[in-house]
Amino acid sequence: MAKPFADDSRSNRTAVQATNDDASASKLSCVKKGYMKDDYVHLFVKKQLRRAPIINRGYFARWAALRKMLYQFLDCEPNADGNGNGIIRKQILSLGAGFDTMYFQLQDEGKAPYLYVELDFIEVTSKKAALIETYSQLRDKVGETASISSEKGEVHSDHYKLLPVDLRNIENLNDIIAQANLDPSLPTFIIAECVLIYLDPDSSRAIVGWASRTFSTAIFFLYEQIHPDDAFGQQMIRNLESRGCGLLGIYATPTLQEKENLFVDQGWQKAVAWDMLRVYSDFIEAQEKRRIERLEIFDEFEEWYMMQEHYCVTYAINDAMGLFKEFGFPNKQPTTNTSTATST
Ligand code: SAH
Repeated sequence: MAKPFADDSRSNRTAVQATNDDASASKLSCVKKGYMKDDYVHLFVKKQLRRAPIINRGYFARWAALRKMLYQFLDCEPNADGNGNGIIRKQILSLGAGFDTMYFQLQDEGKAPYLYVELDFIEVTSKKAALIETYSQLRDKVGETASISSEKGEVHSDHYKLLPVDLRNIENLNDIIAQANLDPSLPTFIIAECVLIYLDPDSSRAIVGWASRTFSTAIFFLYEQIHPDDAFGQQMIRNLESRGCGLLGIYATPTLQEKENLFVDQGWQKAVAWDMLRVYSDFIEAQEKRRIERLEIFDEFEEWYMMQEHYCVTYAINDAMGLFKEFGFPNKQPTTNTSTATST
């Protein structure tokens, strides 16, 4: 048996799990306002909430950045040199997936990869498994032959797996590879969206290192907080700590450079980190921004800049197959006039 982890005094397991309910409620708020389409998230939300425009816009940016990178990954093909290898199977592994619905959306869009694996604490995967079993919209997407156990917190189907694990137990992650039928040689996109930052730095480093050693052709996508040291950062940390969700990892990687170092030091070939202000202005599609910026009256610009500077996307690349030459953020100088990021 793997050893159980004691809660840090700043962080407890139930409170960290509750951040998942928060994320789902915020995504639903965005969906209701038209920021994005998601026909499934409402099934995972008990109490519908209306979020402030700044929160909606922040969630939209997070969703749009992840989605654009996922599409880039799914669209990478090995035969760009014309040697005709054809389309290869791909995998997505979501760490601390919570009630994320990306798998179901990709299914609808005909973009689902060969295998999609989601991991979380058993308390969360049990609830997710139960909901998948209950709602035919979800059940149909995992396939008729799926075996679903809410008690074990597991779903096994040919192309989708949901499994319980405490990510801090690295030994368990190796078992997961086998249980989920993940093939370490296939191109793999690993998602860690607002997850690693809640772990102690040793655990985060161990996960990042394990992923690099395991997957030789992979993208690791990380979305989380940075800059704990200024006034906004300190307030952000206090707010979360008061709810029992200490950002235990934030002092180990407080800057973009240190987020990149986390990956490179753990063996990844390349890592790039941008804050969300830059992601919003230079990566998210202009057309999409024009669309969503018309949805609600928005006048919280100062607050928006500060908030977006405190979140970032880091992606790391291992590219044994040579698939990812074009992958990632565009190669251009940062936009200096940040007001273009939010002009309507
Ligand atoms: N990635 C999802 C959920 C974010 S909330 C999204 O962006 O919508 C953070 C999730 O990480 C929660 O579901 C929580 O249960 C999970 N988590 C945190 N620490 C974990 C750990 N040690 N092992 C497994 N899951 C963990």
